[in-house]
Amino acid sequence: MDPVVTELPRIPLAGVIGHPVAHSRSPALHGFWLRRYGIKGHYIPMDVAQFDLAEALKILPRLGFVGLNVTIPHKEAVLHLADIVTDRAALIGAANTLIFRKDGKIHADNTDGAGFMANLRQHAPQWQPQSGPAALLGAGGAARAVVAALFEVGVPEIRIANRTRPRAEALRADFGAKLTVYDWTQAGQMLDGAALVVNTTSLGMAGKPDFHVPLDALDRRTVVTDLVYNPLDTDFLIQARARGCHTVDGLGMLLHQAAPGFERWFDRRPEVDDATRQAVLSA
Ligand code: NAP
Repeated sequence: MDPVVTELPRIPLAGVIGHPVAHSRSPALHGFWLRRYGIKGHYIPMDVAQFDLAEALKILPRLGFVGLNVTIPHKEAVLHLADIVTDRAALIGAANTLIFRKDGKIHADNTDGAGFMANLRQHAPQWQPQSGPAALLGAGGAARAVVAALFEVGVPEIRIANRTRPRAEALRADFGAKLTVYDWTQAGQMLDGAALVVNTTSLGMAGKPDFHVPLDALDRRTVVTDLVYNPLDTDFLIQARARGCHTVDGLGMLLHQAAPGFERWFDRRPEVDDATRQAVLSA
């Protein structure tokens, strides 16, 4: 008689693809959540060169992967390889979360904006979309996600200054007249009367040039947040606090943007709390 073969359920796998990828904090974060909730699954960092991207997206689902986070330089390219792209990922022009569906289709989303907003709501609950204009320093990929999220919740006006002005002009072309472009040399003045100020540039990040925008125009009622989270307490946030402003660091955005992917892949909404922050900081 043939032995009865029982098919064991597959252990769900997820991971982050980038090039390089060794710096990513996502494995520590998802690893913490997997252990916390006793989920039999794994989250793996994978260094994938541009040349191998299409092949990797074909093979990984067959190996048991249920989805991926995507980081630099693949965030734009995956949009062309996905079967379904959410409206917000299309508007932002980049995806950071992929879901490999059971029907074989690849679903691409961008959760950076939702992560930004959840972080702000958690750590600056006094800030309201109607509080006044938001001022953004920078117009890169992360800025696009922040702009989309701020307009979605009803911020009346966004001011934006970027070293390379055409990049900011491109945002205005995509998001419309409620977005005003300032010259990079006017970035300091742009902060006058802003209810929220966001650094979306890489200035102040470890290994990058120092943050150098003058903050004299900041009002103490302004909420100030940085997307940079390495270091956690940036010069920009330290200077803003010295002026009496309430500040929010960028780590919470990283934690919150990860939660929707984890929920889709492992069927459990993870909690973003102090223990989660500590797990990532001490990794
Ligand atoms: P990106 O697309 O490469 O954009 C970089 C931005 O920084 C651009 O606006 C760029 O201006 C500006 N910049 C770079 N060097 C500058 C300099 N010397 N002087 C003035 N401006 C300069 O990168 P991104 O994906 O938007 O990421 C931006 C930052 O956000 C990074 O530090 C990243 O780690 C952080 N981030 C954090 C999270 C989170 O979860 N907390 C999520 C996403 C990104 P130009 O256009 O003139 O080059």
